[in-house]
Amino acid sequence: MKNLKVYLIVLIMSMTIGSNSSPVTYSKKSTKTIKILPLGIVNQSVMKNVTDSVSKYFPNVVVMKKEDMPKEAWYSPRKRYRADKLIHWMSGRAKENEVWLGITSLDISTTKGTNPDSGIMGLGYMPGNACIISSYRIRNKSNVYKVAIHELGHTLGLPHCKNKECYMRDAEGKDVTGYEKRLCEKCILTFK
Ligand SMILES: [Zn+2]
Ligand SMILES: [Zn+2]
Repeated sequence: MKNLKVYLIVLIMSMTIGSNSSPVTYSKKSTKTIKILPLGIVNQSVMKNVTDSVSKYFPNVVVMKKEDMPKEAWYSPRKRYRADKLIHWMSGRAKENEVWLGITSLDISTTKGTNPDSGIMGLGYMPGNACIISSYRIRNKSNVYKVAIHELGHTLGLPHCKNKECYMRDAEGKDVTGYEKRLCEKCILTFK
């Protein structure tokens, strides 16, 4: 009976702590402010899906006002936007302790191996302070948030993961978001 009382006190204490904090345990990465920047054309339900999901991993999320695509990122031979130029453009505007996540429904591309301009779902440098995602090549739009977490992971310094169900797996140029279920035990540590 005595043990039960102690257990109850501990339980009440943890409930009190729990009610004041977020569902995910944040620590070192939580000090970063994630600034989500809608660019060009953005589907509103995709925007909500990404914002809600990113907010589960980061307590400080700011959604910025939509902006036009910067002209310098336009790649006229393929009529789409260069992801590397978009990142560079955002990176120069990000303040210390900020990570910018650009989001668009328009097609984006980058140089990949011998292909000078390959269409992609997202791009992030490792580490960096800005990354970009596009819903254009993702069949199921409710999976766009997985690419957002993937690129934020790279931006925080996380490499690709061998676990095929982990958001950090290498997509190898395909849309594999339908197979991805979570961040694995190892990768999630970077977000905590
Ligand atoms: Zn990647
Ligand atoms: Zn993983």
